[in-house]
Amino acid sequence: MSNSLTLAAAPRSEAAEAVRAEVRGFLAAELAAGAFTTHVDTWLSGVDPAFSRKLGERGWLGMTWPRRYGGHERSAMERYAVTEELLAAGAPVAAHWIADRQSGPALLRYGTEEQRQSILPRIAAGECYFVIGMSEPDSGSDLASIRTRAVRNSAGDWVVNGAKVWTSNAHASHYAITLVRSSPADPSDRHAGLSQLLVDLSLPGIAINPIRILDGGHHFNEVVFTDVVVPGDMLLGTEGAGWHQVTAELAFERSGPERFLSTYPLVAEFARRLVASPDPAALATLGRLSARLLALRQMSLRIAAALDRGELPDIPAALVKDVGTTFEGDVIEEIRRVVDVSPSMDSPDPLARAMAEAQLHAPGYTLRGGTNEILRGIVARGLGLR
Ligand SMILES: Cc1cc2nc3c(=O)[nH]c(=O)nc-3n(C[C@H](O)[C@H](O)[C@H](O)COP(=O)(O)OP(=O)(O)OC[C@H]3O[C@@H](n4cnc5c(N)ncnc54)[C@H](O)[C@@H]3O)c2cc1C
Repeated sequence: MSNSLTLAAAPRSEAAEAVRAEVRGFLAAELAAGAFTTHVDTWLSGVDPAFSRKLGERGWLGMTWPRRYGGHERSAMERYAVTEELLAAGAPVAAHWIADRQSGPALLRYGTEEQRQSILPRIAAGECYFVIGMSEPDSGSDLASIRTRAVRNSAGDWVVNGAKVWTSNAHASHYAITLVRSSPADPSDRHAGLSQLLVDLSLPGIAINPIRILDGGHHFNEVVFTDVVVPGDMLLGTEGAGWHQVTAELAFERSGPERFLSTYPLVAEFARRLVASPDPAALATLGRLSARLLALRQMSLRIAAALDRGELPDIPAALVKDVGTTFEGDVIEEIRRVVDVSPSMDSPDPLARAMAEAQLHAPGYTLRGGTNEILRGIVARGLGLR
């Protein structure tokens, strides 16, 4: 793992700029055809399997993975350009987002050959979706305290009991990479005895109960496991190494452009408004937001390049997520101060709609994927300050 906050600059990539142009053309055509409408925070809430399959057909999922697993052996910079354009357009990418971003890489790193061959090509085709089964009703920040238990039965399968919560899109997904306690807690090593299981969400004994967010949307859930029998060969990686594996996954989870672009469609709408009626105070706001955005982008690109080199830059990733998600919320406040628009989900004005959506999703930005307090603790420890 990288204990440093200093990362090499991301290489300039002609190939990335070429695929960026292709994606822009595709998105413009899809928008013109009415295949989707732009929304804020679509990587959480824009579930559209047909759109995910279109991306799969174009080779824009599993982009960096080996061809033998359905991937395309393209660079992290090319993948970055694709994800950045999809987020900037507010396209409906939530169905495949977790699988493409972190579950696939976790399978590549820790999965058995059989797991990789059976699952990765389906993810790359935009047909198989994953969720993150980490948080529990009494374990969020303190993830090591989880109580969902998995016990081997005489047939060598795992019997799982417990509950996960805030499980984004479990109702629209196929598998949950589920963190479980696979041997009793050891007070001398809280991180020991945890494992990850690939749980098929259609198994008997799994109840998926909706939890609605402020705008009434159903994106996350409580997932309850009652004597769920998970086949023995669905252990991911090494029994007891769940903590280490989860930490590796979080570097992918925390550093991408979605950690500062969730409210970008609002910024874009604001910029369009300014073209029509420029106002000095509003232009200054746009300048300030753009400067922060560009700095964040450079940081995030460097992490993408480090992940591509096989490093695990977990500390810089925590920093980007802290600063990036703070930016996502600040965007709403800054724009609200300089425009005379009443946020409303039902307004015919796209700026009013984007403001309402961004505001109603805002409580989640700094919580999901680890709260800012926790991330600052990770950064402080990385700098030797704690
Ligand atoms: C939109 C959204 C989507 C999510 N999707 C998923 C998902 O798909 N899968 C999943 O597993 N989880 C998901 N989560 C859960 C998320 O990871 C947790 O909410 C988060 O880790 C915080 O845990 P908690 O809610 O239990 O809060 P707590 O851990 O109870 O924290 C409450 C408050 O106390 C502070 N705090 C806690 N411990 C410390 C400390 N040591 N030092 C300083 N401050 C501290 C926190 O910063 C926070 O402000 C999602 C959450 C949201 C909002």
